Amino acid sequence: MGLKRPDLKPGTMAVTTQFIDFTKGRASTFYNGENLPHVPGRFKPKSLLNHVDMTRPYCPELRRILLEAAKHMGVKVVDGVTYACMEGPRFETAAEIRMLRVLGADVVGMTLVPEVVLARELNMCYLSIGVVTNLAAGLQERVSQEEVKEIFKTILPTVRGLLIRAIEHTPRKRTCGCTSLVEEE
Ligand SMILES: [Zn+2]
Repeated sequence: MGLKRPDLKPGTMAVTTQFIDFTKGRASTFYNGENLPHVPGRFKPKSLLNHVDMTRPYCPELRRILLEAAKHMGVKVVDGVTYACMEGPRFETAAEIRMLRVLGADVVGMTLVPEVVLARELNMCYLSIGVVTNLAAGLQERVSQEEVKEIFKTILPTVRGLLIRAIEHTPRKRTCGCTSLVEEE
């Protein structure tokens, strides 16, 4: 949901470059400091504790590729958005939305964290493209689940096309620096 930035109207796609985490009670790390977690696949962490750098939470190369794909397709995508992630599942209060605006958030949602954190702990290139579905609490009469579904239904084919083109143009060899976000001893 948008927090009243004029270029982030409902139906707008946006590339997140920063997030603010207000989640609670979610498993948010592979490094829990106690036990070696069970992680499927190739990743087997050697250390109990590790701190992943979150200065730039998203892959700069994937971001460039996605923005280029959008330009090629003539699709408007707003770059450089800060996402506030709330626990939910309830929507926010009007007071919470006022607080988030003061803190510098542009949009608010309930997904994205811890997904981005877990991906970065695995040294994965990661990017998020969001869709502004409506204005947040206090900025319109009321917030409903229906308008979220409606917007998604309309925009999904565009998002799909954008992702397909971006994936097709993603090189197999990574030169973005994401491979060494977490250094294991
Ligand atoms: Zn990367």
